[in-house]
Amino acid sequence: MKSLEAKIQTAGEVLGESILKVDSFLTHQVDIALMKEIAQVLAERFAQEGITKVVTIEASGIAPALYTADALQVPMIFAKKSKNITMTEGILTTEVYSFTKQVTSTVSIAQRLLSPKDRVLIVDDFLANGEAAKGLIDLIEQAGAEVVAVSIVIEKSFQQGRKNLENAGYPVVSLARLDRFENGQVVFKEADV
Ligand code: 5GP
Repeated sequence: MKSLEAKIQTAGEVLGESILKVDSFLTHQVDIALMKEIAQVLAERFAQEGITKVVTIEASGIAPALYTADALQVPMIFAKKSKNITMTEGILTTEVYSFTKQVTSTVSIAQRLLSPKDRVLIVDDFLANGEAAKGLIDLIEQAGAEVVAVSIVIEKSFQQGRKNLENAGYPVVSLARLDRFENGQVVFKEADV
């Protein structure tokens, strides 16, 4: 997605060897026009797939997932990183190791929100090693629902996430694919859409 690549070039900031900071348009402040464009591209790509739910993980996956769910006219569910007192029963849980926070946390979704009839599109902000996506897949499959694909706004192709997911049989559709960082700039690979 060329407009996303342009945004990453102008507003993204390379931090160290492997982190891209995008808090001016995706992970803190959100560029709504860009989210709508992302949603349109994903909705077109998955229009024929019979998607019934979009699932993401809080917090930074919520913006692209919400607009994508709206474009597909299905509900959006975000997995929660901490339990609260309103989550009383039927909670599916899994452990997710966070690449950026370097801690493992318990992530959950209420079981009644997903059923074996659901065909789920996962949407997340970044793909690094695939831990977040793997956790979401685990939750969705615990509910007996089917994961149709994992859609990612920014895939860091120099990390193992895509390989791990594809090897496990899950298609990955990324809007921007980062091949490498060179002198503080991003070098892209051809994206999927
Ligand atoms: P993974 O679970 O694939 O190893 O890492 C993906 C998760 O880590 C994303 O949900 C995102 O929150 C975070 N993440 C991974 N790499 C980056 C990065 O370069 N920049 C930012 N802002 N977040 C990242």
